[in-house]
Amino acid sequence: MQHNEMPPNEPPDDRFHRALVDDVHPSAWRNPKSTGKYNLVVIGAGPGGITAAREAAALGAKVALIERNLIGGDRLNVGCVPSKAIIRTARLYAEMRAAENFGGQVPGNISIGFAMVMERMRRIQARLSRADSARRLSEAGIDVYFGEARFAGSATVAVAGDILRFKKALIATGARPLTPPIPGLAEAGYLTNENVFNLTECPRRLLVIGGGPLGCELAQAFCRFGSHVIIAQDDPTFLPKEERDAAQILSDALARDGVEIHLNTTVVAVRMEGAQKIVDLESGGGKFSVSVDEILVGIGRVPNVENMSLETAGIRYDTEAGIHVNDFLQTSNKRIYAAGDVCLEHKFTHAAEASSRIVVRNALLLGRKRLSALTIPWCTYTDPEIAHVGLYVREARENAIPVKTFTVLMHDVDRAVTDGEEGGFVKIHVRDGTDRILGATVVARHAGEMINGLSLAISSGIGLRAVARVIHTYPTQAEAIKMAADAYNRTRLTPTLKSLVTRWLAF
Ligand SMILES: Cc1cc2nc3c(=O)[nH]c(=O)nc-3n(C[C@H](O)[C@H](O)[C@H](O)COP(=O)(O)OP(=O)(O)OC[C@H]3O[C@@H](n4cnc5c(N)ncnc54)[C@H](O)[C@@H]3O)c2cc1C
Repeated sequence: MQHNEMPPNEPPDDRFHRALVDDVHPSAWRNPKSTGKYNLVVIGAGPGGITAAREAAALGAKVALIERNLIGGDRLNVGCVPSKAIIRTARLYAEMRAAENFGGQVPGNISIGFAMVMERMRRIQARLSRADSARRLSEAGIDVYFGEARFAGSATVAVAGDILRFKKALIATGARPLTPPIPGLAEAGYLTNENVFNLTECPRRLLVIGGGPLGCELAQAFCRFGSHVIIAQDDPTFLPKEERDAAQILSDALARDGVEIHLNTTVVAVRMEGAQKIVDLESGGGKFSVSVDEILVGIGRVPNVENMSLETAGIRYDTEAGIHVNDFLQTSNKRIYAAGDVCLEHKFTHAAEASSRIVVRNALLLGRKRLSALTIPWCTYTDPEIAHVGLYVREARENAIPVKTFTVLMHDVDRAVTDGEEGGFVKIHVRDGTDRILGATVVARHAGEMINGLSLAISSGIGLRAVARVIHTYPTQAEAIKMAADAYNRTRLTPTLKSLVTRWLAF
């Protein structure tokens, strides 16, 4: 690709991409002809919409699912699946470079087969698309419609020339990348998550704008593929929501990989000079420029609320927070609900799915399930991973909740040492004077796996005393959680109790 060309809008037309499309938007698909009233019409077939449609159909409801593009939404097509697939290969390259630390030798220079990395990614997408194919959903009893949906009234949706009548509806239309109004950026061309996975050549020099999860994950991956990656973040830390020491470990890890880091830095303008993109940046009053081949924008996501005639159905929304919902995920039109990225602050696949399950209960089974009752963990899949669940210390303090924190460093955990994965920690916050877990942060190679045990504890009301009683397999990195629980248990040994025990042992 010439670098002054716009990035490709479509993935390469290979057998894997064709297999994916054949599953998630088959060209020969004929929409059903709607008859009667649907119990549930779902707009958007991302993870949120698919989950709701499947659950409702399993209950015996008459369900319609409408998708304007590819079933699977961001998760399968331009988000979780492609990013995690390439991150896996990036990790392999990093490990090959570090082979000597493990007593291995990789002869010569490691050559990166970027086109093959992306082909592997498409193969994985094609494989995972089978489960969500239009045919499978249809076999599950769901009427699948392709087309852009819009409300035709307070209880009707128009799609592809048909009008669907419903008792209840769910809006699960997701979100799209937010692009900053930087002068010259649009003219120079830029990448977002919607086209970065279409690349077949690795950019030699890449500027990543934004140090949130997307920016950090892809900055590290492209750097490991051999790009010279520059990351500009206008905050003083990466992942500003996370605890400072977690963000610092990430910053160190990116720097070790060779990413050029510019914190407290704003991109002010972009211009073309020949085939190069010259980017002007500002930091602490000073100005400087960098010259790159591609720019990847990852500064946040905006909800898809446009072109749906939401006003016609009496649905309140705004373009930043998305569809307005109450704690039962009901919109201002009582028969219409919303779930997933289009209305949630936490934009994750598992949050979209969990919120959709609430909608099915509340809309079809007279349930009173609340969004606020969910325990939603999350993870940034950098190396090391950074995962969190529950309250941060600052949130507890803001709410005047007394907190005590138990920390275990991964370099004290045998399995982390044997694996050469010692960077990171497990931090568990309890309500002071109790063993009630308020929140936890895990920074470790597999933090995303480790956080699940702590989510179970929080959502089931299991305290640290009970966690300390759980026998953890040795040696695992998850033992760090047990070690934190043991540290809590030691605080229960008051001086009086200790002196009684000592006297008993002496006796
Ligand atoms: C690069 C990247 C990496 C990510 N990694 C992770 C991760 O590791 N873990 C994680 O949990 N989350 C991750 N996410 C977030 C995750 O992808 C989203 O939270 C999730 O896909 C949201 O699901 P959803 O169903 O709400 O919306 P979406 O997945 O966005 O699906 C919405 C669907 O609605 C369709 N639609 C929109 N408007 C209409 C209309 N008017 N008519 C018909 N159809 C319509 C769209 O075409 C789309 O298919 C990542 C996101 C990105 C961008």
